[in-house]
Amino acid sequence: MTALDQAFRAAGAAAWGGVAYDRLTPEMTREDQEKVRAQCPQPRTVLVAAFPYYAGDRPGNLSLYARGEDYHRALARRLNTVCDFLSRQYPMESFLPAADNSPLPEREAARLAGLGKVGRHGLLILPPYGSFLFLGTILTGAALALPEREAAPACEDCGRCAAACPVGALGPGGADRERCLSQLTQQKRLTDEEAALVAAHPYVWGCDLCQRACPYNHHAARSPLPEFREDLIDRLTPADLDGLSNRSFQSKYGTRAFAWRGPGPLRRNLELQQE
Ligand code: SF4
Ligand code: SF4
Repeated sequence: MTALDQAFRAAGAAAWGGVAYDRLTPEMTREDQEKVRAQCPQPRTVLVAAFPYYAGDRPGNLSLYARGEDYHRALARRLNTVCDFLSRQYPMESFLPAADNSPLPEREAARLAGLGKVGRHGLLILPPYGSFLFLGTILTGAALALPEREAAPACEDCGRCAAACPVGALGPGGADRERCLSQLTQQKRLTDEEAALVAAHPYVWGCDLCQRACPYNHHAARSPLPEFREDLIDRLTPADLDGLSNRSFQSKYGTRAFAWRGPGPLRRNLELQQE
């Protein structure tokens, strides 16, 4: 095991890999490439790591990813320990962590780095954790020695995820984000048609239906990471949000991934589902 393997393992990553930055640019817009260069003028390497979050089959009305601590915070903290290690090894280089908040195509980085498989539901699959994974990246101008692996293969395409999707968002070409309930539950405004879809949905935030249908998730291993298996909020009720201003909502729920839009979409979704 290399010292970098040990650093990622100590940070709680279930797997990690890396890819030369140039291999990602075909998947990136010019604008995203400019944003990357604003952060790192000569990007050479993108490291990518997977962090499991499954905490067991618990009833609730929040997507499983959103029940623990906000993964942006938790992964930044964990990736920073790897960045600190790398900074000691390469004191002249910078190492920039990110989780779902950078212009880098994380899923494509994980695919090219050979982590797990890529599911038709659009997510990385890494047994025994299934697809209940957060991806984090570290961008650097250093040319690091990387594990040599084949790009991740596609899943067996059994079609169960597409059949389970109530809005037909998973076609042969991948997921249609505009139709996806995960997206709709977070939108500030909904058309009448979208509101009807949210009203019939079992979650007030996010959607796990395609993931739950996937055979790789049927006996998923639980996350060893305390942020994602302790102090969970499984369900929100109207009473939880009653009387909260934006500020008091943030003070109560600001460390949660479902809080970034404020209380408005959650209140609306709860109301729609009670009608
Ligand atoms: S998250 Fe829900 S709405 Fe989105 S593709 Fe999966 S099943 Fe369909
Ligand atoms: S349900 Fe089947 S098609 Fe969908 S991601 Fe899982 S293995 Fe692939």
